Amino acid sequence: MRFTIAIDGPAAAGKGTISKAVAAHYGFAHLDTGLLYRAVGRKVLDGVEALAAAEALTPEDLSDPTLRTPDVAQAASKVAAIPEVRAALTDFQRAFARRSGGAVLDGRDIGTVICPEAEAKLFVTASAEVRAERRFRELVTGGHDTRFDDVLRDVKERDERDMNRADAPLKPAVDSVLIDTSALSIEDAIAAAIAAIDARKNA
Ligand code: C5P
Repeated sequence: MRFTIAIDGPAAAGKGTISKAVAAHYGFAHLDTGLLYRAVGRKVLDGVEALAAAEALTPEDLSDPTLRTPDVAQAASKVAAIPEVRAALTDFQRAFARRSGGAVLDGRDIGTVICPEAEAKLFVTASAEVRAERRFRELVTGGHDTRFDDVLRDVKERDERDMNRADAPLKPAVDSVLIDTSALSIEDAIAAAIAAIDARKNA
């Protein structure tokens, strides 16, 4: 059985939480594609050239504990604007999407570029302020010393770069279901996602 669920949207909209819950609900494999770009960004911060880093990525690179830091997030969105870097990461993502047993991929271009044939597509979003607030709380809980204003600026800068790049810009696929999580609890956002996917599964 092949069934791909593409979950796209801007930073800190709730894609990660929703994707994990959806994958567990259907028993599908899950790939957080942002981690691929973060791992490349991490290596660039360490002095490796971006394309060389993308071509040499290993599974171990994805478990580097520093991948969630704001510096790495910014570096990720810079390398993500380089078409050759995106191309180097495409085959792996496509193979994952079409694996047997079902797959959930979350990112920016899954429903538009990586897997336009995905059976179900969601675009998960929220206001920049709500997203920054969530990311701020996550960082503080994780022991990072940070200010809300810096997190908000970071979220807006990444939105700007991700939406305006020439190659695979962040935008909803025409056939995606929009879920705005600004005023939703995590449970309600997950329920909305599952209802939208069930509707596609039963169509
Ligand atoms: O989702 P996450 O915040 O981990 O992604 C980090 C960065 O990687 C994003 O800001 C974006 O520039 C890039 N990205 C991308 N395409 C994807 C996933 C992430 O360009 N499919």
